[in-house]
Amino acid sequence: MAGKREPEVDDRFRRFGTVGFTGITRVNDFITHLEEGRVAGTRCAACGKVFFPPRADCMACLSSRMIWFPVEGQGRLVSWSRLAFGPAGFQEEVPYTIALLDYGEFKVFGRIDRSLPEEELAVGLAMTVRAERLAGDRLSYVFVKA
Ligand SMILES: [Zn+2]
Repeated sequence: MAGKREPEVDDRFRRFGTVGFTGITRVNDFITHLEEGRVAGTRCAACGKVFFPPRADCMACLSSRMIWFPVEGQGRLVSWSRLAFGPAGFQEEVPYTIALLDYGEFKVFGRIDRSLPEEELAVGLAMTVRAERLAGDRLSYVFVKA
């Protein structure tokens, strides 16, 4: 079997720290984008539908031709919730506030930056996403006031 080797396991998602995207194996470029300071989603090259979290296949037309795009500009805060208990791997980070931003074509689920007091949160608040590095070489992103 000369020349044949085991496929490399692409485990970049192990480093992602906030939202459970670990089941997504074909969109590991998400982590590389984060490493470079971008939060990215995917857009279907066939029908134009936009996905966040990124998907490798389009749910609408089943195409696998996906193009990465950066989540830029302002989203509007739709809802948020303060968590006192974290899922496995996040126990040391509680309490934190998870939230949903509406970007029109898509919504982004994530976490409010710790520096932003909860009293300042309001439905419709303009926010942006920011890539961040966590302890232990993990990568994530947070929402900050626009
Ligand atoms: Zn499509």
